[in-house]
Amino acid sequence: MATTKVSATILGAGEPSHTYDAIVIGSGISGGWAAKELCEQGLQTLVLERGGHIEHIEDYPTAHKEAWDLPLFGEMSAEFRAANPVLSRCYAVNQATAHHFVKDAEHPYQQRKPFDWIRGYQVGGKSLMWARWVQRWSDFDFESNARNGVGVDWPIRYQDLAPWYSYVEKFAGISGNRDGLPQIPDGEFLPPMEMNAVEKHFKQSIESQFPNRHLVMSRTANLSQPHKGRGPCMYRARCARGCPFTGYFSSNGVTLPAAAATGNLTMRPHSVVHSIIYDEQKQRATGVRVIDAETKAVTEYFARIIFVNASTLNTTLILKNSTSERFPNGLGNDSGVLGHYLMDHNYRARASAEVEGLEDRYYYGRRPTGTYLPRFRNIFDDKQDQYIGGFSYSVGAYRAQGNVDEGDAPLGAEFKHKMSEVGPWRINMTGMGEFLPRFDNKVTLSKDQTDAWGMPLLNMDCDYSDNEHHMTRDIRDSAAEMLEKAGYKNIQTVDSEQAPGLAIHEMGTARMGRDPKTSMLNGHNQLHAVPNVFVTDGACMTSSACQNPSLTYMALTARAAHYAVDQLNKRNL
Ligand SMILES: Cc1cc2nc3c(=O)[nH]c(=O)nc-3n(C[C@H](O)[C@H](O)[C@H](O)COP(=O)(O)OP(=O)(O)OC[C@H]3O[C@@H](n4cnc5c(N)ncnc54)[C@H](O)[C@@H]3O)c2cc1C
Ligand code: SF4
Repeated sequence: MATTKVSATILGAGEPSHTYDAIVIGSGISGGWAAKELCEQGLQTLVLERGGHIEHIEDYPTAHKEAWDLPLFGEMSAEFRAANPVLSRCYAVNQATAHHFVKDAEHPYQQRKPFDWIRGYQVGGKSLMWARWVQRWSDFDFESNARNGVGVDWPIRYQDLAPWYSYVEKFAGISGNRDGLPQIPDGEFLPPMEMNAVEKHFKQSIESQFPNRHLVMSRTANLSQPHKGRGPCMYRARCARGCPFTGYFSSNGVTLPAAAATGNLTMRPHSVVHSIIYDEQKQRATGVRVIDAETKAVTEYFARIIFVNASTLNTTLILKNSTSERFPNGLGNDSGVLGHYLMDHNYRARASAEVEGLEDRYYYGRRPTGTYLPRFRNIFDDKQDQYIGGFSYSVGAYRAQGNVDEGDAPLGAEFKHKMSEVGPWRINMTGMGEFLPRFDNKVTLSKDQTDAWGMPLLNMDCDYSDNEHHMTRDIRDSAAEMLEKAGYKNIQTVDSEQAPGLAIHEMGTARMGRDPKTSMLNGHNQLHAVPNVFVTDGACMTSSACQNPSLTYMALTARAAHYAVDQLNKRNL
């Protein structure tokens, strides 16, 4: 597999060696796709990444470690949790993965209202740690704002994106089943991973008792069979450490090597993009200002097109920080909506239960995904009075480790013996609720505090509305009802009341729309007011739907990159 060319030198501003055809800011899920598509179409492309380089496979130090090789068997220490209250709330952080996550004190931000901002600053961004669930959006989602009278209408529909979903799925390698459900259209799938015995039972129970409710295998960016020289997945559920078999999709393992193979990629880690340079005469962006993360030296790079893929909130920070006479409130911000309409998903409501029976059944390995119960509210004939929008669930059944009753555990040899037996079946459901776009949910730049690189701190001001509160109750109660009707026991429900941000699906703040007066980006993710700047990460999202969003960022990015090159070739940019 080709390795990435890493640029090590900084030359003076304006040197020819600082001029490229395209610049991509950020090397995570969306930046990796932008780099691949632009490089493959022949553009000399510079990727600027604020974090350090992570070489695929070589730089995954914990990939083969067992629990006993890790301090505290992988648990984070009390000291770590006290020093990192935000990061410690993220379920994926442990001794084997923590090095991929930004620590609280390293990159502070302000919280007018509580907001858990989970980040990964390195080559590959959060593509190294993500959970890889990738359901397509449908027209229920692209039409939702118009139908419900919230936010603005999306400038695109499912048909605009469908070929690009196929395009990215075929390259990324997505396992899944063709379920024929209009709310999560089918895609280009490798064979699905398998449901276990309890999940099959739950599927049968739901589908026979509730019209329009289904349980399917999550479509997942893990390889169920070898694909384009990668994988397959070995069923170890250790993905957030980095995969030595390239069994899941990451920028490091998939898109960046493809970009590097063209010979057109220059990757520059440790490069904090400070702002985008705007030329008032040309009415175009001409380049970017960069602060070296290690030396703090400032330099500039130039290109004909710029893709901003720093992840929703950092993209917004860069745009807001890019002021000029023409754009005193941030690049392209004629509408005043930059920073507004921040969304996340609502992951607050959960339910779990014990399952009796099927004790003679087990499952193969550690499947790195789960099952998915797609949206059934406020579509088809369902109409809720108390809220608009919909929700889905992630669902997983498993056998407890050790056949020990926690309240009445035996001691000594018997305890050891019981721990070697498999425990009873349990099942969990976690809701993923739509979060409405609201003007009041916003990020602004701090007026008095900057970070170690001189960038203003972001100030988060985002909260749930009554719509999300009502939906949370329905997510909780509907889960309990389905578990009860399946005959499961000791059902427990919880509203975690967790702050926005912790779903790690932050979206909006530079939304797409048809009207430059009310949106930042047009239907090709191009700034209405600066057509050679494209924003294709979560900042572009106009609504949040209730599917995991990253596949949609990938499809939007590939589509925009092809459009950008076409426009360059026609000399429109
Ligand atoms: C534990 C976890 C589980 C998740 N599970 C799922 C899932 O199952 N399905 C799903 O769809 N999504 C999931 N996500 C979310 C998913 O990871 C993000 O949606 C996705 O990574 C966003 O892609 P991105 O390119 O916008 O940002 P990132 O992947 O975060 O990449 C952004 C990059 O930009 C860099 N950067 C930031 N600021 C600057 C700057 N000023 N200059 C230069 N570079 C900069 C960062 O260092 C980073 O490398 C999960 C995330 C986590 C952490
Ligand atoms: S579970 Fe599969 S994809 Fe994940 S790290 Fe292990 S082998 Fe790789």
